[in-house]
Amino acid sequence: MSHKTIAIIGAGIAGALLARQLADAGIQVEVFEKSRGTGGRLASTRLGDHSVDLGAPYLEAHSPEFKLWLEQQVSQQHLHHWQPKRSDFQRQARPEQRYYVGNNRLSALTRQWLSQGPIQLHTQVRVGRVTRYESGVYLYDDTEQPLGIFDLAVIATPAPQAIPLLTEIPAWQQLAHEITPDICWLHALQFADENHAEHRPSGLAVDLIEGHHPILQRAIRNSSKPGCEGPESWVLHARSDWSEQYVDADKEWIAEQLQQAFFELIGNKPETSHSRTHRWLYSLNGTVNLDQPYLLAQEQGIAVCGDWLLNQQQEHQLQGYSASWLSALSLAKQLIQASK
Ligand SMILES: Cc1cc2nc3c(=O)[nH]c(=O)nc-3n(C[C@H](O)[C@H](O)[C@H](O)COP(=O)(O)OP(=O)(O)OC[C@H]3O[C@@H](n4cnc5c(N)ncnc54)[C@H](O)[C@@H]3O)c2cc1C
Repeated sequence: MSHKTIAIIGAGIAGALLARQLADAGIQVEVFEKSRGTGGRLASTRLGDHSVDLGAPYLEAHSPEFKLWLEQQVSQQHLHHWQPKRSDFQRQARPEQRYYVGNNRLSALTRQWLSQGPIQLHTQVRVGRVTRYESGVYLYDDTEQPLGIFDLAVIATPAPQAIPLLTEIPAWQQLAHEITPDICWLHALQFADENHAEHRPSGLAVDLIEGHHPILQRAIRNSSKPGCEGPESWVLHARSDWSEQYVDADKEWIAEQLQQAFFELIGNKPETSHSRTHRWLYSLNGTVNLDQPYLLAQEQGIAVCGDWLLNQQQEHQLQGYSASWLSALSLAKQLIQASK
């Protein structure tokens, strides 16, 4: 069966990479994204004049194949190496490790893929319904306005957000119900120190702190990433169990708790110029194991890709963005073959 027009719902790494692959193969693609920007859980935000990564803070090579792809992105200057000084929360040094970061922000990656044409990107459009009729797959927004008729609709969203879009295939809805995503409260802050690029108001010599802590999962000095100039900035990720316990707490209270934990860690309380607190209801998904890392029902014209779909034969345990990457590339390969 050949797919002539494909709708992709979600412009995170999975949806954007899939769109790029399909467009490069000459397939007509339209992408629908409910947010203002692309990147999904690789999102960024502004603190003053500078961007900080608000989702995953970096990419890590979870498998040799993923590493090869990451290095290709580096050679094309879409990603950069980042080798932060690391320690645990008890200040014990950890061995240096190589990570991958974007041009200023990770979401630059999805933006780049989607801006290279000929992809139609619709932002601030939340798809509310996907329905199969004889003439094709119909998409409607959340006010029941029609968005178009397609040969195939690919749902590239976290599992809970896929559930309302999968009414045509109850067995897949059931699969999505099996997923329990982690919650993550996060606080990003920038210190007031415009004039001294080298000066570090935190007094910390390390750039990435991970390990055991009652509240924090990790703390990342965003301003130490290559290309990130400006005052010192940190992003604090709360532990998932703590985030779950305080899922409905007041944002201001969360901000206070995370800042206080960080100030206790650094033994100092420098002046903060900008900050932002964000709650991710779906940070890292659990996964379901399948024969291939995506779902595709040719007859219904519906497919699913993303980080919650894993191939059980996979040698390396992928998760998060590497699972989304493999899911999108595998589905793209299948759809491109089918279109020939
Ligand atoms: C704070 C944080 C830390 C993380 N740390 C790590 C880590 O260390 N290691 C790791 O492997 N992974 C990590 N992750 C997870 C990783 O970022 C994700 O697994 C990956 O980015 C998911 O990509 P995706 O494209 O599959 O989904 P998403 O990025 O979630 O993209 C889905 C997109 O679909 C859009 N959407 C949803 N519903 C609709 C709708 N109805 N209509 C239109 N658009 C819709 C959303 O707005 C979103 O942009 C982290 C995530 C967060 C938030």
